[in-house]
Amino acid sequence: MRLIVPAAVVLAMAGSSPYRAAAPQPSSTSGATLFTGARLIVEGDRPPIEDSAFLVDGSRITEVGRRGDVQAPAGAARVDLSGTTVMPALVNAHGHVGFQKDVSFDKANYSRETIVNQLRQYAYYGVGAVMTAGTDAGDISYELRDQPVPGAALVRTAGRGFAMPNAGPGGAAMRDSAYGVTTEAEARRYVAELAAKRADQVKIWVDDRNGSVQKLTPNLYRAIIDEAHKHKLRVMAHVYYLTDARDLVESGVDGFLHSVRDAEMDDALVARIKQKGMYITPNLSINGRGAATQTVPWYDDPILAQVFSPAAIARVRPGQGQNPAAATGRGNAASPGAPSSYEMQIRSLAKLKKAGVTIALGDDSGIQNSFPGYAALQQLERMAESGMTPQQVLVAATRTAAEVLRLNDMGSLAPGKSASFVVLDGNPLDSLANARKISKVYLRGQEVDRAALRAQWTKSTGGSR
Ligand SMILES: [Zn+2]
Repeated sequence: MRLIVPAAVVLAMAGSSPYRAAAPQPSSTSGATLFTGARLIVEGDRPPIEDSAFLVDGSRITEVGRRGDVQAPAGAARVDLSGTTVMPALVNAHGHVGFQKDVSFDKANYSRETIVNQLRQYAYYGVGAVMTAGTDAGDISYELRDQPVPGAALVRTAGRGFAMPNAGPGGAAMRDSAYGVTTEAEARRYVAELAAKRADQVKIWVDDRNGSVQKLTPNLYRAIIDEAHKHKLRVMAHVYYLTDARDLVESGVDGFLHSVRDAEMDDALVARIKQKGMYITPNLSINGRGAATQTVPWYDDPILAQVFSPAAIARVRPGQGQNPAAATGRGNAASPGAPSSYEMQIRSLAKLKKAGVTIALGDDSGIQNSFPGYAALQQLERMAESGMTPQQVLVAATRTAAEVLRLNDMGSLAPGKSASFVVLDGNPLDSLANARKISKVYLRGQEVDRAALRAQWTKSTGGSR
């Protein structure tokens, strides 16, 4: 008798993929690997170690120094990284998972398989962890958080976020993923439910979607914030309007997942954000999709096509398929000569940086027609348009984002930290575009098998991307 094993069982047994999770590792009898020769960016704002050596044992970095100063134990494997630059894996403090499957954006796609595939897309581009911001149904993200898949990014989750009924995230497919609340008692009950599930943060949407839905009212978001803080949970807000941003700051919200988009932030608001110790993920990549500061337009970047299908890329190419601005619908200047929403956000970011506000990478990837992982690389360059130095952007995308996600072992490459790093054929401290020159990615001590992933994605007709 032939045993028919249900596909779901096979997927579960194989870590939900028929592909190897990690590349063949160099042979080692001690379990340790010595990496030598790279320019090592231990932390974005410290001078890199030239001609470095670092020792990885299991999933951890155990020693860091100059070549010759770090001794490999007997039997250790060796990897020569001469000519490369190593930086910590990126951390993304604002993403979404489970809805996009090639060109299809639908809640019917929401499954462990779809999510793991996206976590591999993040990993492919050097993103080692992502916070999913309020659009998770059921327990899949919690399970993946507690049992990470090798070769895939870590997950942190806000579970379901909060909005008025049927007034949640922008995309129609995501809209009912939020808790729809109308009373403070309901709001508090759902926050307690999230706390019981050990959600990592709480997400609220405070936006009327250009007048099309009811905005979460101040009494409700204040109740959510108050209840969340009682449970030691932080609240991050999707915000659009300056007036809402002001009130949210005074109501004790902990983070903004977007900048204000209808106006430039004024100095008083920036000062309050700083005083309150809030963080912000500027999320410039979507609104800035038209900004072509690269010599090759980003949608023609060859590394994009290594992961995403021609059909998926065609949908964001200007003049073809969907208008990229349609992702926000409100991204453009109201009148000729007025600054666009994107330009106002860039100016706000410059003010926030100058004031010393905590700025973390967050790119809103996983919404419709976005590109998990690649969006983070694009975001680095957008952030620099505000005048942030490559050092400052790298800190935002590594150490600071890791702090926001409470990933204490990520964001820098020191002894005791997670061996999650990106090997680059270029120095991102010279130009953030070099962060796209990815040679290898290691997550938690194992090399991500990028060649196998690339082969899987590029041979696919689209369905599994
Ligand atoms: Zn979002």
